[in-house]
Amino acid sequence: MAAESSAYIALGANLGDVKRNLRRAIETLDATPGCRVTGVSPWYRSRAIGPGNQPDYLNGVMALATSLDPHALLDLLQALEAAAGRERTVRWGARTLDLDLLLFDDLSLADERLTLPHPRLAERNFVVYPLSDLAPALRLPDGTPVSGLRKALGARGLEATFATLEQSDD
Ligand code: ATP
Ligand code: CA
Ligand code: CA
Repeated sequence: MAAESSAYIALGANLGDVKRNLRRAIETLDATPGCRVTGVSPWYRSRAIGPGNQPDYLNGVMALATSLDPHALLDLLQALEAAAGRERTVRWGARTLDLDLLLFDDLSLADERLTLPHPRLAERNFVVYPLSDLAPALRLPDGTPVSGLRKALGARGLEATFATLEQSDD
């Protein structure tokens, strides 16, 4: 049996029944052979960074124990995005579901499909805050502590919510 790896995945959505889309993604991943969701962060509301006047995002991070390799995991995340009805039209446009692979063990790599760690992780408070809530002592492969990134970024444009995914969208 292959050893399990530890992965962190950012979840975001700002279109459709946001909570339902996020909940489904977590449940489906957890039910996938070779994948086990080991933790889910609190949820944050963040202002959209993309073009136009978009609704706010709901953002969070989940921890995963997996026997998949990173590219197979990316395939799975993209299939889940497609299942949630995601359409890729404009870059950074509004979306029903975005799943970014943030970290996969201590791996650093870059090819046409996949860059690890996620290249914009360290500059986004809506990723760093939930990630450090979930794993306060975590470090990036280069040794950078996520707690330090959190302090450096601050909470601008970010709002902690006490939302659970149980209720439907408000
Ligand atoms: P951003 O990457 O700035 O968060 P985005 O999430 O809107 O923007 P997408 O359109 O979802 O970007 O993804 C564009 C491409 O990024 C995907 O086709 C995928 O192959 C590639 N990619 C590279 N590294 C990663 C990663 N670590 N996680 C997810 N996708 C990645
Ligand atoms: Ca993204
Ligand atoms: Ca993405």
